[in-house]
Amino acid sequence: MATSWIIDAMCLSHDGGSYSCARRSIEIVGGRIVALHEMPPRTEPGDSIIPGNGLLAIPGLVNAHTHSPDNLLRGTAPHLPLELWSLHSAAGREGRTPRECYISAALGGIEMLRTGTTALLDHVRISPDLDGLCLDAVAQAYRDLGLRAVIAPIVADRPVAQTLPLDTADLRDLDLSAYGMRSQLPAREQIEIAEAFVERWHGYQGRIQAAIGPSAPQRCSDDLLMRAGELADRKGIILHLHALETRAQQAMGQHLYGKGTLAHLDELGLLGPGTNLAHAIWIEIDDLERIARTNTAIVHNPVSNARLGSGFCPLSDYLERGIRVGLGTDSACCNDSNNLFETAKWAGLLHNLVQPHARWVGAETALRLATQGSADAIGLGPDVGDLAVGQVADITLLRLGTPAFTPLNNIVRQLVLSENGSSVAHIMVAGEIVLRDGVCTKVDEKAIWQEARDIATRHLDDGNVYADAAKLSGPIEAMYARLGRGRSATQ
Ligand SMILES: [Zn+2]
Repeated sequence: MATSWIIDAMCLSHDGGSYSCARRSIEIVGGRIVALHEMPPRTEPGDSIIPGNGLLAIPGLVNAHTHSPDNLLRGTAPHLPLELWSLHSAAGREGRTPRECYISAALGGIEMLRTGTTALLDHVRISPDLDGLCLDAVAQAYRDLGLRAVIAPIVADRPVAQTLPLDTADLRDLDLSAYGMRSQLPAREQIEIAEAFVERWHGYQGRIQAAIGPSAPQRCSDDLLMRAGELADRKGIILHLHALETRAQQAMGQHLYGKGTLAHLDELGLLGPGTNLAHAIWIEIDDLERIARTNTAIVHNPVSNARLGSGFCPLSDYLERGIRVGLGTDSACCNDSNNLFETAKWAGLLHNLVQPHARWVGAETALRLATQGSADAIGLGPDVGDLAVGQVADITLLRLGTPAFTPLNNIVRQLVLSENGSSVAHIMVAGEIVLRDGVCTKVDEKAIWQEARDIATRHLDDGNVYADAAKLSGPIEAMYARLGRGRSATQ
């Protein structure tokens, strides 16, 4: 079996307690790290070699929550809170062809590789109806780029006006029948499409995993949630869903279930080690115990939370209780990037604004969440997220002769607080070089970007869907006035 080498690079690894950095040569066989040599080794003719002098090797970053259809919508959304933002973003992703889904996923994939991310979870909404060909196109995009990906098709079956605590009097004169933000397919049919996708792609070439992604509890009937949970159990896949992102969603738990949303999910048996909750901001006080007891994972998306004004995730509470946490960018329409360096910096700093300094997160923890934490949360297992013998060779190599690392005083702080992805030189996924000198090796980046521009030009004129969706803006504004604002339930 061919051996690949990264010769004599500065290597950052985590020993379970803290990060350390040392000059090493990394030996890679069969897509895994088999040795870290202190002395430069003797290589054989035919070995693949990356000279590591002047480079920093780190475990590839793992983006635990993104939405590929929104990559074509970067920058389109005005500054609005989630519920009003959704009216705009829903319009832009309607009626895509499989090729358009491919290009949208490839756009985000290229951006992630160029900014040091080697693995991701894509919570994919295909609008207006879940579609197997579109899901296949998304998987093909990650396969072609060489990324490690978990793909969670979004399912939802409740009309949007019934997912928010709106005043029915405000809806009385509105015809909402044309509002296409929900899937029209019955729960059973959506799960069948998702299951067929799981059978086609789960475990593909060891790099692609399938998952199931209910949009959020309040957007799904209990029947659909239970079917999704049953599919996850039967196939051994992750159940990934948004939960308690906004104050309105917290109020909706009481409205729908007469109790907190997570208490309801717990009663349905849907919390557990295979479940990850994106956001989990507006939790109830007893939810901390519930999340810890069930070993449910959280995905923190600080840039999106700020962009949409959603609230402060109780990250320090989660970390102090040993709750599993990963980091995500969320959508390129509410961030507006897929750059996990940026997200790690926000995770490390944002909570300083609301916590005493003894509870601040800091650079070292933020880096751990962006690597091992995310990999664990989205079910990639303990072999992803570190540079150590036995780990998969998902490695990001950064140039040290850049502004972020000059002078080199503290690698971890400069990696999280100074670096922004622009020092990324090369990337390996499973030992394969998928980015060299800052450019993707397996796809034609420029052709994909040109096709993305052409698609965006065609779709920016799709105003009709937004005109329908916008009918809800008045009732949503009235809802905000009733609920008021605040940080989150625990602060
Ligand atoms: Zn999201």
